[in-house]
Amino acid sequence: MKIQFCGAAQTVTGSQHLLEINGKKILLDCGMFQGKREESYKMNRHFLFDPKDLHCVILSHAHIDHAGNLPTLYAKGFTGSIYSTSATRDLCSIMLQDSAFIQERDIEFVNKRRAKKHEPPFYPLYTIDDARAVLEDFKAFPYNKKFFIDGLDNKVAVTFIEAGHILGSAQVLLEIEENGKKITLGFTGDLGRYHLPILKDPDFLGNVDILLTESTYGGRTHHNAELIENELESAIKEALEGGGKIIVPSFSVGRTQELIYALTELQNAGKIPEFPIFVDSPLTVNATDIFKLHPECFDVETVTYLAKGVNVFGLNNVKYIKDVEDSKKLNEFKGTCMIISASGMCEAGRILHHLANNIQNGRNVIMIIGYMAENTLGKRIIEAKDTPGTKVKIFGEEYKVNAKIRILNAFSAHADQNELIDYLNKFDKKRLQKLFLVHGEPEQQGIFEKTLREKGFKNIFIPKRGDVFKI
Ligand SMILES: [Zn+2]
Repeated sequence: MKIQFCGAAQTVTGSQHLLEINGKKILLDCGMFQGKREESYKMNRHFLFDPKDLHCVILSHAHIDHAGNLPTLYAKGFTGSIYSTSATRDLCSIMLQDSAFIQERDIEFVNKRRAKKHEPPFYPLYTIDDARAVLEDFKAFPYNKKFFIDGLDNKVAVTFIEAGHILGSAQVLLEIEENGKKITLGFTGDLGRYHLPILKDPDFLGNVDILLTESTYGGRTHHNAELIENELESAIKEALEGGGKIIVPSFSVGRTQELIYALTELQNAGKIPEFPIFVDSPLTVNATDIFKLHPECFDVETVTYLAKGVNVFGLNNVKYIKDVEDSKKLNEFKGTCMIISASGMCEAGRILHHLANNIQNGRNVIMIIGYMAENTLGKRIIEAKDTPGTKVKIFGEEYKVNAKIRILNAFSAHADQNELIDYLNKFDKKRLQKLFLVHGEPEQQGIFEKTLREKGFKNIFIPKRGDVFKI
């Protein structure tokens, strides 16, 4: 058996890990690379393997950096099955089409410029048709139910275990038989936190021989997730006192629903006043509908709320906006309000317009509730936190960051260092032959590796893109 790390290796995007078992190739995740534009573009177009040779894909969750390159795989000749939980499949049905739409539109914009210079047009990475077609290859399975991958003579069994990261997110347990030997391999996917709103907490994967673990916050600790509401309450009060607008870049899936949930709780408890809240993202509207279809993913508190008739996905003062014209009208809105929009790392989408309109006004607050990868606009905004007036580029033009930047780190959907270590301590260290750290940036991974060694973990590897390991 071999593993090749094809993405999310010393970085947090492009999650793709290729297993070769009994001569068949299985891909764990098929994420899209984000960040540095040209480099990502190349890596998204050129896989380190031939998609035609792949037997199947096993998907941990629907985030674009884990599932977003599936349509390219399809367009390049992949004909196998994609295994996931049913909530992941449903989320992919909207997220992949949305991703295709963004790419078609972005390329159109670039091609207009190129046409003026008499340069040949570029083509989008994939089209909406590719995104729709790949959905037919999905096979959905519930959590905790072992199943065999088709066409492998019952030699590879898969179980999805709750990861508590976003709706439908799973850790993947593989029980493999090769040349008469049995081996178990675990992949954490992205690991969530305890006590996050809405979702169940992560479950233990069970003991394994080989483990691929995420390491996004391997070197950092967050505020306790139970503090989400305290952080949110103080950030909102500060913004309301200043009379400005609160702009929140937020992932359409997960972050936004959790934020609305927390706002609902604060408002119901009388801790914050009722004020206008706009969720300006067609994808969020659709994603929220999918949340409502998957109560099997909810924690006890959410189930209890819903049973009491509390609408945890939207109070009366929350307005969901799909239409572009309604989105534009927000520019003229006078007075305090909260505008929640995507994309989460400020790389595309309507959030760019809201930032351009509001970032230069010192009365406004930009509230950061999600992870910002290196080389994204979101990261540059965070870096401008303590130096008002720093310039950032939006749509190619310079803007001064005068708005206050508030970072609510309790909101993270990723386990922090303590949570990751608590989790890894559950594994039998003697049995663990290899521990691979994936989905993290080198600095975080370095700190994490050192800490893990101090805690008695051995055989820790931090693979880079293209590295192959024989098991
Ligand atoms: Zn994720």
